[in-house]
Amino acid sequence: MNVTFDYRDTVALVTGSGSGIGRASALAFATAGADVAVADISETAGRASVELIRSAGGSAEFFPVDVADPDSAERLIAAIVARYGKLDIAHNNAGVEGVHEPLADIPVEDWRRVIDVDLSSVFYCMRAEIPVMVAQGGGVIVNTASASGLIGGYGLGAYTAAKHGVIGLTRAAALDYGERNIRINAVCPGPIDTPFISGLPTEQLDRLTLNSGMVRLGQAEEIAQAVLWLCSPGASFVTGHPMAVDGGVVVGGFGTR
Ligand code: NAD
Repeated sequence: MNVTFDYRDTVALVTGSGSGIGRASALAFATAGADVAVADISETAGRASVELIRSAGGSAEFFPVDVADPDSAERLIAAIVARYGKLDIAHNNAGVEGVHEPLADIPVEDWRRVIDVDLSSVFYCMRAEIPVMVAQGGGVIVNTASASGLIGGYGLGAYTAAKHGVIGLTRAAALDYGERNIRINAVCPGPIDTPFISGLPTEQLDRLTLNSGMVRLGQAEEIAQAVLWLCSPGASFVTGHPMAVDGGVVVGGFGTR
């Protein structure tokens, strides 16, 4: 991809950057000159991303976090500020999918885990990030929601509810902090070729894109490019926006191709 961004003198946090979309976002920010805080629950995966970024000439450090734990989120932000003295950008991205079951068959434990990791985590992270950004005079946040935050998905009740919630939190926070020079948006990926969905049978993967415009899976780098744009001066008047980057999944409709 030829789009270039300039993120020199910028500290960017990406949660869930041990894999998939988060790894691609962390690599893209580092390639554009940012100091990247790679945060993940998996130390092995996080350190592998740091190695990848450093071998590409970028700057990155690993920070352990369980985003579903508010104390862990607080410790993460404190550690980043202690290390770099500021936090310019936060991409709150870590997430899990949960079971694929019709609503009444979703175990309560699974519901709680998905809501904790996918929704409450965004609240915990923003709650820790925003005071730092207010104190330093501004910042930018992008939360990874999903096409499932904009439309329903079969057998994905907890995930769909959590991702709709991420968009609601994003809108509320954007209103609360726009005057403090903090822009807060969400990116809504369609089906992206990462370990998150790569275990699904081919037939199920095909069905994910059948009613979309582009009829293919997206690549993690295509989400990273949207995140970098949302954080850039080019998006200086964009806030509270759930940006679909989905190959046309959410505009998919009835009928056959
Ligand atoms: P992935 O499984 O490749 O990566 C997720 C990363 O998050 C992993 O490194 C994992 O260790 C980390 N993580 C999980 N729980 C965590 C926790 N409690 N604390 C900290 N880190 C944790 O998945 P991905 O496809 O890169 O997904 C990233 C985000 O994109 C998720 O929020 C997901 O819901 C969203 N998303 C993905 C797709 C897709 O098709 N891949 C589509 C829409 C939205």
